[in-house]
Amino acid sequence: MKLATIGVGNAGSKIVDRMLEFESRTDRNLCRHVHAINTARTDLAKPDYIPEDRRLLIGDTNQKAKGHGVGGDVEIGAEVAEGDIDEIRRTFDDVEIHKVDAILVVAGLGGGSGSGGGPVVIDALQEMYDEPVYALGVLPGEYEGGRPALNAARSLQSFVSKVDNFIGFDNDAWRAREQTIEEGYEQMNRELAARLVTLLAAGETDDSDVAENAMDSSDIIRTLDTGGVSSIGYAATPVDDTEEGLLDRWSSDQQQVNRDDGSQATKIKGLVRRAVNSRLTLPGEVSSADRALAVISGPPSEFSRKGIESARQWLEQEADTVEVLVGDDPREDSPRLSAAVLLSNVTEAPRIKEIQNQAVDAQEKIAEQEAVREDEINDLITDDNNDLDPVV
Ligand code: GDP
Repeated sequence: MKLATIGVGNAGSKIVDRMLEFESRTDRNLCRHVHAINTARTDLAKPDYIPEDRRLLIGDTNQKAKGHGVGGDVEIGAEVAEGDIDEIRRTFDDVEIHKVDAILVVAGLGGGSGSGGGPVVIDALQEMYDEPVYALGVLPGEYEGGRPALNAARSLQSFVSKVDNFIGFDNDAWRAREQTIEEGYEQMNRELAARLVTLLAAGETDDSDVAENAMDSSDIIRTLDTGGVSSIGYAATPVDDTEEGLLDRWSSDQQQVNRDDGSQATKIKGLVRRAVNSRLTLPGEVSSADRALAVISGPPSEFSRKGIESARQWLEQEADTVEVLVGDDPREDSPRLSAAVLLSNVTEAPRIKEIQNQAVDAQEKIAEQEAVREDEINDLITDDNNDLDPVV
């Protein structure tokens, strides 16, 4: 698939940057257009791979932002994006839309710029283009507290209702206790990039005739066509690089020997099973998925038609749906065989309910504090018998 990829806010831009890194490291070609949009000048300077001329600072003339971010305020995030909507649209004018299959907007939902600005950006894209617009949204960890949960719970409603599909990533599930938050983010972003790129880059190889069961962009679009909230599972294993293994690969490449034997089939089915049973980007009930799709990526000599068929049957049972596609994505020089599994429209994801509960508590607390704030300030600045008067 060919994508236009847009990171909104800090997390969104960092994740897009890691997607570009993974793409270049694995010689893939997914993101044909890329943009980073942010309200904070310093954050916009962070990416390593997003070209300078693809970074847009918004809200620098807005009194509340002034190029310093929106302080996690989702309302200001939305206001700033709406205020600069013409500039955002002009940025998208560059997108040669006939060269992309879909658009992906990436944002963290717990903050202000991505959470508030993301839905505004999506509205503009939906108005401008007929191609599907997807979102990848990061859900904040419980440890972040009530305000990010409230931002995320509200913003999730806007994202899901506006996009053609929303892929979730749960920071809570991916947090490693022994790491600092920044180290943790760095690792999470790499893991997430590997999943997104392995899945979505399927079909973008130069030698498509090598694959018998090649996945292509229309398969991915069809699977995502359900709308709702989706999740990705992933597993990888090194390709056999012993002398024997290499010899085997050489001979199969040269003589087109079909090594579709039992062990390869077992390996592929096992990989898909491991991907589904691994930590999903958004943990959820696999059997609640509406559709599923698995991409097997690696050297074609490792592929197995029998393996693909048994993986498909297994996935059909596990996801409890007949709408299952399994296909391959040939990467001749890849040192790994990997499986990325998309579970589309998963309707049972406990973390979303937890965030909503945390958000409702936070909203009540904020309302209670606001109700008494005026009285508390008056109490503080007024003497006990109210003998003193203000100067003017
Ligand atoms: P914004 O710039 O105002 O959109 O805010 P940020 O993107 O900095 O943060 C929004 C939310 O994204 C936070 O509440 C975190 O949950 C999450 N977040 C921030 N940075 C990262 C990151 O690098 N990786 C991941 N996975 N999540 C992040």
